[in-house]
Amino acid sequence: MSALAKNYNRRKISFKRGKGSFLYSTNGKKYLDFVQGIAVNSLGHANPYLTKMMNKQAKKVWHVSNAFLIPEGEKLARRLKQKTFADYVIFQNSGAEATEVAVKVARRYFYSKGKPEKNRILCIKNSFHGRTLAAIFASGSKKMTEGFGPKVPGFDHFDFADHKGLEKAITKKTAAIMCETAMGESGIKVIPDWCLKGLRKLCNKKKILLILDEVQCGVGRSGKFFAFEHAKIKPDIVPIAKGIGGGFPIGAVLMNKKVAPAMTAGSHGSTFGGNPLAMSVGNAVMDQMFKKGFLQNVQKLSKYFINELNLIKEDYPDIIKEVRGIGLLIGLQLFEDQSNFIKKLELNKLLTIRAGENVVRILPPLNVKKQEIDLAVNIIRKVCKNYN
Ligand SMILES: *Cc1c(COP(=O)(O)O)cnc(C)c1O
Repeated sequence: MSALAKNYNRRKISFKRGKGSFLYSTNGKKYLDFVQGIAVNSLGHANPYLTKMMNKQAKKVWHVSNAFLIPEGEKLARRLKQKTFADYVIFQNSGAEATEVAVKVARRYFYSKGKPEKNRILCIKNSFHGRTLAAIFASGSKKMTEGFGPKVPGFDHFDFADHKGLEKAITKKTAAIMCETAMGESGIKVIPDWCLKGLRKLCNKKKILLILDEVQCGVGRSGKFFAFEHAKIKPDIVPIAKGIGGGFPIGAVLMNKKVAPAMTAGSHGSTFGGNPLAMSVGNAVMDQMFKKGFLQNVQKLSKYFINELNLIKEDYPDIIKEVRGIGLLIGLQLFEDQSNFIKKLELNKLLTIRAGENVVRILPPLNVKKQEIDLAVNIIRKVCKNYN
């Protein structure tokens, strides 16, 4: 009997090792892993370079405290500043923490401007920002908040793609709009570039902040370092996590220089956030991701993969409703519940994971090989052929 609580619905499968895009189960089977810890292992399993850099740091110093200077963190923050919209960074350990800090920064900004009443955050209904108390009430999902009252105040909601509803929901108390640039858990729903541009304009007009949660779609997953770069806009605050650690728990909040000064000494802290071991791994991920041609290759592979999936959809229009996504954040929306389809893919040694709206979520590592995509395409086609 497991002593682990039952809050997960785990598949009855475990692994003894991984290498790149593959996982080897304890019962001797080899799987193509297109879950990758849910968009976390951006460079695949047991990446030799990440392993080397982590071991190198492990022999020196793992953890000190944010009471001291941490050169590895200084370096990672500086690189994030050089490569993105950001001027300042706060490191955390997870996505939920990062989104909460994003909310804290937005509120603190208006507080520092003498407008503490501007403290409400406007989010998309049934979105996903993590599982802490504030994050579940930010998500506005009935399922995630059930039994966890009292409700954490300060969050308002509008429906995805409801532009009029969005404008209406902005009040004098609104501090920021927070949404995922491409919604992951809720079903791989990408906010189109023209909407992101509109969102930025709307925030400027209403003098409120734009928080884009890139915990899942960020850090190369979209084929650019951030998904919003495709729309050529700049948000004010961006929480990231998943991909930046390549499997090591790291979260961060990136901010522009307008809002960052609100976070004065003592205003926020974290015991583990930004420790030398985590920061060395984060730097190693950056080393790989900013190699010449890396992100362009993600775009190229994405185009190829999505095209192949659309060919399957044409052949099986009764099974696949839509192929959607950005970069290597890809969703196959089915007409019916996807559980059986995912099970069949697994029986054929391809691991995928569910998302909202009957979507089979496909998340290869960003350094996936074309032959591995071909392998996945063949398995998906085979499962479609033998479905029903
Ligand atoms: C995964 C995720 C989170 C939460 O991250 P945790 O590390 O699980 O706390 C927040 N926002 C988005 C968009 C996510 O995909």
